[in-house]
Amino acid sequence: MERIYLSPPDMGGEELSLVSEAFASNWIAPLGPFVDRFERELGAYLGGRFVCALCSGTSALHLGLMTLGVGPGDRVYCSDFTFSASCNVIRYCGAEPVFIDSEISSWQMDPDLLAEKLESDAKSGRLPKAVVVVDLYGICADFSRIEPICAKYGVPILEDSAEALGSTRDGRLCGTFGSVSGFSFNGNKIITTAGGGALVSQDETRVKRARFLATQAREPRPYYHHTTIGYNYRLSNLLAAVGCGQMAVLPDRVARRRAIFERYRDMLGSIEGISFMPEPPGAVSNRWLSVIGIDKNVLNKSPEDVRVALEASNIETRWAWKPMHLQPVFESCEFVGTGVDTRIFEQSLCLPSGSALTEAQQARVCEALKKSLIG
Ligand SMILES: *Cc1c(COP(=O)(O)O)cnc(C)c1O
Repeated sequence: MERIYLSPPDMGGEELSLVSEAFASNWIAPLGPFVDRFERELGAYLGGRFVCALCSGTSALHLGLMTLGVGPGDRVYCSDFTFSASCNVIRYCGAEPVFIDSEISSWQMDPDLLAEKLESDAKSGRLPKAVVVVDLYGICADFSRIEPICAKYGVPILEDSAEALGSTRDGRLCGTFGSVSGFSFNGNKIITTAGGGALVSQDETRVKRARFLATQAREPRPYYHHTTIGYNYRLSNLLAAVGCGQMAVLPDRVARRRAIFERYRDMLGSIEGISFMPEPPGAVSNRWLSVIGIDKNVLNKSPEDVRVALEASNIETRWAWKPMHLQPVFESCEFVGTGVDTRIFEQSLCLPSGSALTEAQQARVCEALKKSLIG
């Protein structure tokens, strides 16, 4: 039986001819007309933002922290329930991550814990240099509360929107919150450039700074002159051509992933012990991944049991992100919370969610899943 992947790329149709156009023009470099166009289109989609296209979401987050002035010895708060790239970049800057637990109603950073931690760190004169707030699995974090809390202490926000392009909260798009935001166009994301990312901000000087750092920190002189350490982080013009094709189908991809989530709810929702990732009031998720909860007390099956059973049917599923405070590499870091995200981690499974998933394939996933719960 043909393999069903978790979240494979889904080309819209125009990508190949745009890549051919890039070839024909011989702009085969980490700059060129398609990079400019991709930046323009993404910026326009976000309602008028400055954009720097980059080679990965991770590089966008790294430069995001650098433009916020994060450096050695600084502390940076970060969502605990996330992919490691969100906080690896804190270490790239020589800074120290502090992990904040999730709230169960949204699976995103708990604003109350954030407020308490900022208050106590303000008292002891140890305020963080920045807060990395992740929009996990396409659900926008609760910025209506997080933004004023951070503003009270003058601490800027880096929004990690790698998984949340096309999602909104209270009508506002993910990637437009905070001082600076990062997107990923990795092969598994809602749209892709094979590998790529973007740094986004309303503040043009920040984006200019990021572009400078991403281009080997080359000073505008006729010879090579450097006053700071730079990076080689820019996006190839060929990949930006793919990105332009993908931007054209973004609204469709969001609609498809949302429809996939709804179908899972229709087909599995009546099973006692199965639950679904919440979408809090005011949030419209791109449903990048459909994540279900599996209650072992009711079903006598763990997510791992189900994963193994589906794998035997050639269906790829995946555990939810393992919380950062449980990662050996971050075990010495401070963690604020009670382990809400640990419970989510232990009970959840990500189901095939690619926008090209057919109804027949999805029915196959649900059949195999139901069988795994009985068998
Ligand atoms: C994918 C992802 C990243 C990293 O993006 P890359 O393009 O793979 O470097 C960062 N944060 C989160 C939450 C992600 O899901």
